[in-house]
Amino acid sequence: MIRPEHTILIVEDEPKIARLLADYLEQAAFKTHCLDDGSTVVDWVRKHEPDLILLDLMLPGKDGLAICREVREFSQVPILMVTARVEEIDRLLGLELGADDYICKPFSPREVVARVKAVMRRIKRTPEETAAGYRGITIDADSFRVSVNNELLDLTPVEFRLLQTLSKYPGRVLTRNQLMDVVYTDGRVVSDRTMDSHIKNLRRKLAEVLPDAELIHSVYGIGYRLE
Ligand code: CA
Repeated sequence: MIRPEHTILIVEDEPKIARLLADYLEQAAFKTHCLDDGSTVVDWVRKHEPDLILLDLMLPGKDGLAICREVREFSQVPILMVTARVEEIDRLLGLELGADDYICKPFSPREVVARVKAVMRRIKRTPEETAAGYRGITIDADSFRVSVNNELLDLTPVEFRLLQTLSKYPGRVLTRNQLMDVVYTDGRVVSDRTMDSHIKNLRRKLAEVLPDAELIHSVYGIGYRLE
């Protein structure tokens, strides 16, 4: 089967890294285009409508944050943010830029290709597939009920809101603070450990009905994502 080529825009000012990424992505049958100056990116995206953007944070001309914000004003193209510091990711998440994923330097090109493919798979899902939920999980926000393959799950209100929030942003990393904000509607602040234990209980309950699926992934030092 011949599938249409997807174009990945690589925004990276270090030529060696840009070349390496382009090589790996082209081997994986993507078309690539590289830009090294931040000030040219928004216009290029408008004109060429790439299928995905790999966006370095620190760039000459205009930084990745500003670019991400400007692109989001007119496009829902998936954006993978690339940053040199893992501590930076927590701050970036807090800004709610609408990036789809975050990659930390130094990265392995293989990992980047895998993340790109994962995002592409996610956006290719039809609305019907999305509506059907993940692995047969149905979340009914009105009745606060979650069922998996028609089997009702017995969740606490906190666990319910955790699962509901994570499933709204599949594949996206949510920090413990972001989860806390939605889970505790009374503005209560709880410790990371409390958050982790709620996640642990939720995982255990999900594992009882879906023993082979690990749905909630920990992202070290940052938070969680539903995959
Ligand atoms: Ca850079």
